[in-house]
Amino acid sequence: MSKFKKILLIIITIIVIASCLILVKDYYKNYKNVAYSKEVTQESTGKDLNVSNKIPVLMYHDINNDKNMNLMKIDKKSFEEQMKYLKDNNYNTLTIDQFYDSIINGKKVPKKSVLITFDDGYEDHYKNAYPVLKKYNLHATMFIITDYLDKGTLYLKSNELKEMSDNGIDIESHTTNHPYLDKLTYEEQLKTLQNSKSKLEDICKKSVRFVAYPYGAYNTNTIKADKKLGYMMAFTTKGKWADLNKGAYALNRIYIFPQYDLNNFKDRIDNPSYSQIVHPIKAIEEAYYSILAWY
Ligand SMILES: [Zn+2]
Repeated sequence: MSKFKKILLIIITIIVIASCLILVKDYYKNYKNVAYSKEVTQESTGKDLNVSNKIPVLMYHDINNDKNMNLMKIDKKSFEEQMKYLKDNNYNTLTIDQFYDSIINGKKVPKKSVLITFDDGYEDHYKNAYPVLKKYNLHATMFIITDYLDKGTLYLKSNELKEMSDNGIDIESHTTNHPYLDKLTYEEQLKTLQNSKSKLEDICKKSVRFVAYPYGAYNTNTIKADKKLGYMMAFTTKGKWADLNKGAYALNRIYIFPQYDLNNFKDRIDNPSYSQIVHPIKAIEEAYYSILAWY
């Protein structure tokens, strides 16, 4: 990289960090004023059955205590606190098939039902999340980037994936290499969706029928490819409760960010119109990826 480009990169990085700090400051100002003023008053019994047309799908990424800059990371204590809350308060954690039967086929599920999902296939999903899920006997679904399996210490190993799959964790696709699907041709999309599916089926010896789009990005070709390959349902990263507003191939999920405390977690799983403040992390993420793409 030339000296000019290095200087330019430093300047841009400073501008991005400064902008993010402003956004974070504004966010917290808004967050305190708006999110906490919205008390959740509705108490559900956990026993009522519900033909649910809206279900909260929780979206997790890393679960660890490392002091790095990963902004989607939840520390182990907070994760356990959230899972314990679900257990202690009689939430019903759905398998991906139960979720499908409810949201697509209208089958009744307990009123306090949630789907827990993890993206990317990090090693800490096995080391830190899986033991907690087992401890509280909770179901969950993991969306795996298959090219990253067995590569280094950050990502899962095939045998860990198989073990979790054998013990009730649903293993589904997050493509082979985490592309923006909407930037690929139809054939390229078909390839990454097909290869990730086949690899997971080889490892787990179970059919893979669901996919989460990296960055939540998709277009009409993605849905066409999904259908051709036998995917029955797909998830985005749009922060809302899942419903069929945009069909079975564009289901929303709820961000779980480290900045949120348990009150906010409760709001997100109890209240379909939980506070929808634009999160600064999304802006940071987009700025980061746009710089990478530029270089
Ligand atoms: Zn991802």
